[in-house]
Amino acid sequence: MSLYAVLGHPIDHSLSPRIHEAFGVLTGRPVRYERREVHAGGLARALAAFAAEGGRGANITVPLKSEAFALAARATARAARARAVNTLSWENGAWVGDNTDGIGLVRDLTANHAWSLRDRRVFLIGAGGAAQGIVGPLLDAGIAALAIFNRTPERAHELVSVCADARVAAALPAAQASYDFVIHATAAGLSGDLPALPDTLFEGAIVYDLMYGPKARTFLTHARVCGAREVADGLGMLVEQAAESFLLWHGVRPPTLPVLERLRAEADAR
Ligand code: NAP
Repeated sequence: MSLYAVLGHPIDHSLSPRIHEAFGVLTGRPVRYERREVHAGGLARALAAFAAEGGRGANITVPLKSEAFALAARATARAARARAVNTLSWENGAWVGDNTDGIGLVRDLTANHAWSLRDRRVFLIGAGGAAQGIVGPLLDAGIAALAIFNRTPERAHELVSVCADARVAAALPAAQASYDFVIHATAAGLSGDLPALPDTLFEGAIVYDLMYGPKARTFLTHARVCGAREVADGLGMLVEQAAESFLLWHGVRPPTLPVLERLRAEADAR
């Protein structure tokens, strides 16, 4: 059985092993999938050891997505566009980097939640590896405008300039425009922080947090209190991006709804 893993820090609570093992059962392709704790700067060494042990595919999470992009011998078009890698595949003795975050988010919004993105105005909070991965697929889905806000403004400006698309602009924290979607793609929830943005941003919007479970609660509760029309966490995105990685590695796209429903039921029971 080939070996797969998710690498990053913190990694203890990653659901990726359970998701990939469930996909393996559903598709009749059993997989061995582990968690590996890897800190910033440690990816090259960890990947070399993993390949030597028989590792054939790796998911890359916080804080290693840019490092993975720099280390990949080759990047797919969507990883190159994102300048971030969340999926590595071992091909002909080298790691090939891809990015399935954006397609995972778009599938969750449009297929699982049945929310159309076409001609919608989107406010994106964050400019890290996850944000880099989702801007291209959001634009491809036909959104009308994308405003990007980040705690460190320079990173938002850089992401805007890399997009080179007239629909994309950096957002000012006090911006008064209204948005159909507010997408939260920062790690602020890990420390229980809220991004410094006006309450009015959330009024009437669909608000989505890439985080899931208790770590998304502070942000999504705040959005609801501020008048969000709907709120959702990133559990569906997690399952959908994993399905795209599974497809890359095993050549078959697993059904996602049974896995998502089981994880959601477990989360709701807690
Ligand atoms: P990253 O590359 O480390 O970037 C972190 C981002 O969060 C940056 O924009 C950073 O702003 C911001 N940030 C961190 N702490 C903050 C705080 N206290 N207040 C405001 N902004 C803060 O991480 P990433 O890969 O983009 O991941 C971001 C989050 O998305 C993670 O929590 C991850 O779990 C989640 N995610 C979920 C999925 C999914 O499938 N559901 C997929 C990918 C990522 P600065 O530039 O100012 O530091």
